[in-house]
Amino acid sequence: TFRALLIDRDDDKKQSAQVTDLSADQLPEGDVTVRVAASTLNYKDALAITGASPIVRQFPMVPGIDLAGTVDESSNSAFAPGDRVVLNGWGVGERHWGGLAEYARVSGDWLIPLETAFTFEQAMSIGTAGYTSMLCIMALERNGVTPDDGEVLVTGAAGGVGSIAVAILAKLGYQVAAVTGRPEEADYLTGLGASRILPRADFTEPGRPLAKEQWAGAVDVVGGQVLANVCAGTKYRGTVAACGLAGGMDFPATVAPFILRGVTLAGVDSVMCPVEDRREAWRRLAQDLDSAVLQPVTTSATLDDCARLADELIAGRVRGRIVVPIGE
Ligand code: NAP
Repeated sequence: TFRALLIDRDDDKKQSAQVTDLSADQLPEGDVTVRVAASTLNYKDALAITGASPIVRQFPMVPGIDLAGTVDESSNSAFAPGDRVVLNGWGVGERHWGGLAEYARVSGDWLIPLETAFTFEQAMSIGTAGYTSMLCIMALERNGVTPDDGEVLVTGAAGGVGSIAVAILAKLGYQVAAVTGRPEEADYLTGLGASRILPRADFTEPGRPLAKEQWAGAVDVVGGQVLANVCAGTKYRGTVAACGLAGGMDFPATVAPFILRGVTLAGVDSVMCPVEDRREAWRRLAQDLDSAVLQPVTTSATLDDCARLADELIAGRVRGRIVVPIGE
C-alpha cells in the first residue's frame, strides 16, 4: 500500500479530504509509474482540497497538480526506472490522480526530465507557480520587453507566482514594483529584489481608461479590477502577462490601452502548455532563478498538513510556496 491525500464526496455531495492507504492496483491508467519524492500546494490545489471551486472533475481524487520524483516502472520508451522527472498540470489532480501521494501513474507524455540544477524539493518549491512565473516572463520577452524599457509590475507579489516572478525579474536586471495587500511582507519582497512596494489598494478602485504610463510590462495573478488598472497604466507598446484570478474572474476594462497605446495583453496557461515551452521554461528557471532565493520563499509541510493549509492558502495567509516532501 501507499499513502495518498484523497478527496471524496459523501451521498450529500459533501466533500472531505483525508490521508488514506491505497493499493497499487487502484492507481489510474498510465504508462509511467513515478515514486513521488515531493509535491506542493498551489492555489488550485487549495481550491480542489477545500472544494471552493469545482476543480475536481471526478471523485475520489488524489489532488496535487505538481509532482517530482523517480520513475519506478515505465513502458514508455522515453523514460526508464531511475529517471528524475517533473510534472506540472495536464489535468493531473483535477481529472487524473495527482502528486499528493507516494506514487502516481501518469502518461509519459506529461513528464519532463528534471533539470540537474534542482533537487526534487527545489523543483516543487518552484512548482506550477514558479514555472508559470517563467512562462509570464517569457511572454514579456517575446513581446520585446527589456530591462531598459522601465519598471515591471508584479501583482499578488507575496503569493507563489508573484514571489518567484519578482525574484527572476530582479535577477534579469528589471526594476520590479511589487503590489501586495500585505504591507508586513515588504521586507520579504525587497529581499527578493523588488525595488518598490505598492499597496494593493492603489489598484482596486475603478480608474480612468488610460492612466499615467508607468509599466513597461506586468505579471498579473489577480485579474478583475486590478488587471484593468494595470493595463490602463502600461506604457506605450508594453505587455501585460495575465495568468491568474486571485482577485476575480471579471475584467472591467476598456479597449483604450490596446488600441491607443498598442498594449499587449498576453494570456498565460500552464496546464495545457506545449512541451517545448515547458522545457524552455524549466531550462530558463535553472539558468535565471537563484536556488538560494527559494529558501526564504518556501515552507515545508506534510501530507497530513495539507487539508488545513489549503484553508490558509484560500484565505491569502500563506507567504510564497509550500513544499510537501513525500518520499524518504
Ligand atoms: P497564492 O500563493 O495564493 O497567491 C495569490 C496572491 O494574490 C496572494 O498572495 C495575494 O497577494 C493576492 N491576492 C489574493 N486575493 C486577492 C484579492 N482578493 N485581490 C487582490 N489580490 C489578491 O496563489 P498562486 O499559486 O501564486 O496563484 C496565483 C493565481 O494565479 C491564482 O489565481 C492561480 O489560480 C493562478 N495561476 C494560474 C496559472 C495558469 O496556468 N494560468 C498557473 C498558476 C497559478 P498579496 O498578499 O501579495 O496581495
